[in-house]
Amino acid sequence: MIFYICFENQMSKKDLDIILKYWKYDHEKGTYLYKTSELTNSSNLIKSSDVRKLVKINSSIALNNKQSICPECKTRFKSKNRSGVKELPTSPELCNSCKKELENEYISAKMDYLEDKLKLIHPVDNFYDDSLSYIELISLYLLIKPGSSRRPIFYKKDKLGLTLSSEVDGGIINSLSKRKLIFDFSEKKYKQLTLNDYPFRENSFPLFSHDGNFISGFDHADQDLVKQLLILFRTSLPKQGLHIPLPQNYKNFSSYKKDVDSKIKNYKINLEDIKQIESLVLKQRLGIAFNIVNSVSNYFKLKIEPSLKLEAVLISLVKKYTIEEVNSIIFTNASSSKHYIEFINSDFNKYAKKFLFTKNLERTLDFFEGKDLQMFKIELPNFLKGSKLENFFNTYIAKKSSNDEGAWQSLSVNEIVALWIKSF
Ligand SMILES: [Zn+2]
Repeated sequence: MIFYICFENQMSKKDLDIILKYWKYDHEKGTYLYKTSELTNSSNLIKSSDVRKLVKINSSIALNNKQSICPECKTRFKSKNRSGVKELPTSPELCNSCKKELENEYISAKMDYLEDKLKLIHPVDNFYDDSLSYIELISLYLLIKPGSSRRPIFYKKDKLGLTLSSEVDGGIINSLSKRKLIFDFSEKKYKQLTLNDYPFRENSFPLFSHDGNFISGFDHADQDLVKQLLILFRTSLPKQGLHIPLPQNYKNFSSYKKDVDSKIKNYKINLEDIKQIESLVLKQRLGIAFNIVNSVSNYFKLKIEPSLKLEAVLISLVKKYTIEEVNSIIFTNASSSKHYIEFINSDFNKYAKKFLFTKNLERTLDFFEGKDLQMFKIELPNFLKGSKLENFFNTYIAKKSSNDEGAWQSLSVNEIVALWIKSF
């Protein structure tokens, strides 16, 4: 270890002598020549701590190494005691005051950035958009229905319950958020805002945890600034999910709702809307049918290969039969397919096994063709019913309560669409 002594003050010969002895280093043994306690013989210096104090006030040690400086302010790193010498950086490194300046600058820039972004999140456009399609209008109506007073409505993405098909919901959300009627604050957007892009700690410290409240990695920054940033996160950062702000031209959500409702009632339906209704109802039912297929596949431990054929058969099924009948048809077919593989022909090859269910389903459908049979029904589990769309249909189109004959649950896609169109 090669270092040199820097003297900070003028001092007496006696003090100088003590300081020189304190720093005297035996390079061969790798130890200091004198113990601090050996230097306490003078009348002023009774204890070891007195010696260290004298050394600290008057001298410091720097490494004789061109790398041991702060690259920013070019200050040489120094130590004022023996234990600190070992910790002197041997390569260029930011000094504490430069670290502090940098961290403060970063935090201020981050706050500006956040404030800008947060302004974008709450668009307060006036709502007078007459170009919304029928489906968009009823979706908007259903989503703002629970709103009260003026506070924005919030939905977690998986609790939307609009159609119970995440694909269909996604499409509707997309078109409404393009019109800035709802704001989709996705996980990706959230992560962009909470990202720690501080260049020196990027990977090792989270700026903000995704569940809570902390900022770490800023040991040198002004604590007040750190607190301000934290408050900005806590109070202004919206939750992940969908936010529906109240447009500026309404006093509260009930007047907003009334307006959307009257737009729905006065809506002039066109061919495009009918296509959209058809596709929406079909996709919704198809989503449920696939859900049932997955659940019977787990239940019977039956491999069911997804295929275009399977989709085509399911489309025909849901178009013609009520969803409870579809549930029963799928269940019975899965059961008989499993039975066939296990007890009748266990040597069935692997490839054919995966398609057996689809094949059976297709045969069943052909068998039912043209026959007016009484179908067996299996009620859907609760999480597959009760979507907002379904409730809308029951209340406004079918004018039935949800358990009645003629309500959503007891109709096929074809029947739902026919009723819907007739209602205009
Ligand atoms: Zn510096």
